[in-house]
Amino acid sequence: MEQYTGKSVVQEIAVGSIYVFAKKESSLTKRTIEDADQEMARFDAARSEAMSQLDQLYQEALTQVGEEEAMIFDTHKVMLEDLDYLEAIEEKIRTDKVNAEYAVTATGEEFAAIFAGMDDEYMQARAADVKDISDRVVRILEGRQDDGFHPEEPVIVLAEDLTPAETIQMDKSKILAFVTQKGSANSHTAILARSLNIASLVNTDIEIKPEYHGRQAVVDGVEGVFYIDPEPELLQQKEKEQKELAGREEALKQLVGMLSETKDGRKIKIYANMGNVEDVAQVLKNDAEGIGLFRSEFLYLGREDFPGEEEQFEAYKEVVSAMKGKKVIIRTLDIGADKKADYFGLDPEENPAMGYRAIRICLTREEIFRTQLRAIYRASAFGTVSIMFPMIISVNEIRKIKAIVEQVKAELASENIATGEVELGIMVETPAAAVISDQLAGEVDFFSIGTNDLTQYTLAIDRQNQKLDPFYDSHHEAVLRLIRMTVENGHKAGIWVGICGELGADETLTEAFVDMGMDELSVSPSSVLKIRDRVRNIG
Ligand code: PEP
Ligand code: MG
Repeated sequence: MEQYTGKSVVQEIAVGSIYVFAKKESSLTKRTIEDADQEMARFDAARSEAMSQLDQLYQEALTQVGEEEAMIFDTHKVMLEDLDYLEAIEEKIRTDKVNAEYAVTATGEEFAAIFAGMDDEYMQARAADVKDISDRVVRILEGRQDDGFHPEEPVIVLAEDLTPAETIQMDKSKILAFVTQKGSANSHTAILARSLNIASLVNTDIEIKPEYHGRQAVVDGVEGVFYIDPEPELLQQKEKEQKELAGREEALKQLVGMLSETKDGRKIKIYANMGNVEDVAQVLKNDAEGIGLFRSEFLYLGREDFPGEEEQFEAYKEVVSAMKGKKVIIRTLDIGADKKADYFGLDPEENPAMGYRAIRICLTREEIFRTQLRAIYRASAFGTVSIMFPMIISVNEIRKIKAIVEQVKAELASENIATGEVELGIMVETPAAAVISDQLAGEVDFFSIGTNDLTQYTLAIDRQNQKLDPFYDSHHEAVLRLIRMTVENGHKAGIWVGICGELGADETLTEAFVDMGMDELSVSPSSVLKIRDRVRNIG
């Protein structure tokens, strides 16, 4: 039996077999070659293998999802036959005398940068395709397998780290637990684990070896321990604890349908956070009173191109209709930082968390923003929708947003498209927004405090950097004061204030939030009933 410790994100226990998730990136090295003809022959063989893989993928996609979706593999084949691309690779091999893996990767990056710099959004999106085909060829050259996630049974995913784009593509019904070597407890993978309510450890002191694949393991999210090949007695003990946890969760179910009200009659709304459309089932199952944060950027991740208005409208409509009149707060696109999609063509940045992201993209690439707003307003006719905007730092931004919103509404009205009444709010997740919350409150209908980013920016601690976890104090007085100040300023202006960051689910602060007069807490679906239970025991 081997045993490793990690930082637990979700207090659950999982038992199952390990699936080692290999990274897309290879450990690419640049080598000088002697024989260019031989290297060209290696490249040609890998290219023809890639062509036949693409043929096969095209056929599979055709039968499974239809011609439109299958076309992408045809596009990839065309790119792999592009003379400019092939000549650039050949030149590197013959003139620069570098190995084929390096020549293909470097050419892929050069072409991706050219596509990303084009004005046309369709062409920008091709940046991801050229990287994809280059990755495929390199994978073949290195003799690596396809790194998709296709387990037969639900598994414990063991990875060095996982990006939101990687997790979005995974079939969630096949995941029993996550164990990552890197990753911080505040990252979006941790948030995903919380929303799935599955045992998860990050920052685990393990060196991942391919031979772990398929071995039996236990992820103990209560103790923060990962066991590989557990002893029979330990396995038995953990299975018993797992059942007890399930029993406690079962007991909380009796709070379904009950009010979130303290013994002395103070009420607070308990909403749920979600990222994928499928999460709405968990939101309903856990009896959330609304959706306090729909992270809409998840619709944009793990794909090759922008989701269009129609596709977004269908997704929002599905969620709004499923909530049957309960409030759904849709946050507009918060892409950037760790949430990346190649087709946006975003330049690499020194400080992405403080970079070109979220509302900053929406206000400079208005077409993307308008498409999303049109889709949300159209969905608003099917229930109760609110919109909130991320990463706000000024009154000016809100005024610009409101002008665009008015234009979008007028456009829809002129097309005779029905819309509902929509509240507009902002996320208070920058210290700037909290400090000038008195000024911002006059501009919007509500505030939702994003404590994840608010803490990151207030404490100057990168939420992605696990080395900083020991310094990350989620109860830091500075953060709590900013929260209190935001609530007071919101209430003075007569608007409601909630929390949608992870701190909202911190049971040790529930009473403090109720005392502050917080109107709403939006937490992961699996925390809704726990927090309701906590509220009902106050007073
Ligand atoms: C936050 O920053 O607290 C928040 C809710 O947004 P996200 O975690 O998606 O950045
Ligand atoms: Mg945030």
